[in-house]
Amino acid sequence: MSVDISVIDISVIIPLKNEEESLPELVAWIAKVMEAHRFTYEVWMVDDGSTDSSWEVIQRLAADDDRIRAIRFRRNYGKSAALNEGFRSARGNVVITMDADLQDSPDEIPELYRMIMEDGYDLVSGWKKKRYDNTFTKNLPSKLYNWTTTKMSGVKLHDMNCGLKAYRKKVVKSIEVYGEMHRYIPVIAKWAGFRNIGEKVVEHRARKYGVTKFGLERFINGFLDLASIMFIGKFGKRPMHLFGALGTLFFLAGFGIAFYLAFAKIFFDRYNMTDRPIFYLAILFMIIGSQLFLTGFIGELVARNAPERNTYLIEETI
Ligand code: UDP
Ligand code: MG
Repeated sequence: MSVDISVIDISVIIPLKNEEESLPELVAWIAKVMEAHRFTYEVWMVDDGSTDSSWEVIQRLAADDDRIRAIRFRRNYGKSAALNEGFRSARGNVVITMDADLQDSPDEIPELYRMIMEDGYDLVSGWKKKRYDNTFTKNLPSKLYNWTTTKMSGVKLHDMNCGLKAYRKKVVKSIEVYGEMHRYIPVIAKWAGFRNIGEKVVEHRARKYGVTKFGLERFINGFLDLASIMFIGKFGKRPMHLFGALGTLFFLAGFGIAFYLAFAKIFFDRYNMTDRPIFYLAILFMIIGSQLFLTGFIGELVARNAPERNTYLIEETI
């Protein structure tokens, strides 16, 4: 099927890993919804290193429908990298992300689109109010995660990590996600200056085929990434400033002690400055201080010349 895509209303981004059974159903469902609402659209399937036949399925689907585009990673780089590549490729005015496993419903797309275009939201995050996942490995940890993220970031959402989200185009073109960052994209969007962040209760369904790719250990990675992003946020993208500041403090303390000892020796001839134990402290502090300062300085140089953090490789594009 071929359509005029000079203006694309919606880009749907689907990160996927080993979801061969779900894809045909998902693509047909999306087409049904889009056609019913007369949206022009494109689908970007990002195959994040599947080892089943997902890519063959995608090739078949794309051959029948030129609204379907696809990117295949050379190996598994994670959901964030997959989303990031989708963000770069998307051309629609509104960008929708959804999981490939049919847990998110394409029926939500029209209302999400309306909230961006008419209500003026920059980002609308889905809220799986009634959730069909394992209580102990997913639902409870997820609640805890949300609570902490909300407290730390000030972005008040019930379900930060919902795979179903809608974005105004300029949001996805202004942010970059890597590591486990897909868990708190609303926070990243807020830091990029997008204030209008909303949420919509969405239908959630039990996984129909295949198995979940996210277990408890990935929550832990998520927390670590959150900690590092908060840290980066605090030090204005220059964590190295912390080393510089600490180094300066140490150096000044050491220098102060040495100055005091020298002053006492020269003007009052109290004692030989090297006889005093704190002399060694002064030397130690000055050494630690200058080392820390230089570490910060080098870090700063590296950071300024660092390439983009996303270093995934693309095997093939349709
Ligand atoms: N996914 C991915 N890369 C990965 C892991 C998962 O692209 O390394 C995709 C997966 O195929 C699905 C979505 O991310 O489309 C959400 O994953 P999953 O359904 O396993 O997570 P859950 O719904 O259990 O949280
Ligand atoms: Mg799922």
